[in-house]
Amino acid sequence: MQITEIYKSLQGESTHAGLACIFVRLTGCNLRCSWCDSEYTFHGGRRMSQEEVYDEVKRLSPSGGLVEITGGEPMLQEREVVPLMEQLLQGGYRVLLETSGERPLERVPAEVVKIVDVKCPDSGEGETFRMANLNTLTRQDELKFVVSSRADYEFARDFTCEHNLAQRVNAVLFSPAFRKDAAGARDSSHCLIDPQELAEWILADDAPARLGLQLHKFIWNPALKGV
Ligand code: SF4
Repeated sequence: MQITEIYKSLQGESTHAGLACIFVRLTGCNLRCSWCDSEYTFHGGRRMSQEEVYDEVKRLSPSGGLVEITGGEPMLQEREVVPLMEQLLQGGYRVLLETSGERPLERVPAEVVKIVDVKCPDSGEGETFRMANLNTLTRQDELKFVVSSRADYEFARDFTCEHNLAQRVNAVLFSPAFRKDAAGARDSSHCLIDPQELAEWILADDAPARLGLQLHKFIWNPALKGV
């Protein structure tokens, strides 16, 4: 499979935020979100076999732990990434899959925690979520909405309520979008929407969601990759 990078860091998002995690970042994406901070994954990377990827994960975290399969869009390489996830599960790893949900998710192993990033309108990639994927979600999965405007918030709130998502998954996360050219200060000044404003909207509506902040952007310089 085509791999951009494999590294160890702290998980920055989801209910697993703050835990040590090995990130396996696959190359390539079929979307172009306006605030994407992973454009360096669109091209390049290097070809690695399933065994080479597994061995690298094992080298970085020999005694198991958390592994996130991410990208880019990892499910574009479904044929190779599904057997990798199976091998990681068999090896005792807890596996997270970060995906836009644009590709089918039926073949993702049941034990994998799916973190599905449903695109809001101002990402420029609204309506790319494959609605049939709602049927693949389980109580261990998580849905994330990256919010950069009031319109995005209203979309996320209404989509969550219409599809009863809070009852179907472990967590529904509303996360302020980060400026993609953010650098320097490690604070919320780089957010495209003030986290305080988003928090107040959630509270005012009793929206069934939790506020998610990208922890890694507050720990390391937001311009750094591979953290
Ligand atoms: S789906 Fe992810 S990697 Fe692809 S453009 Fe959007 S944010 Fe970037």
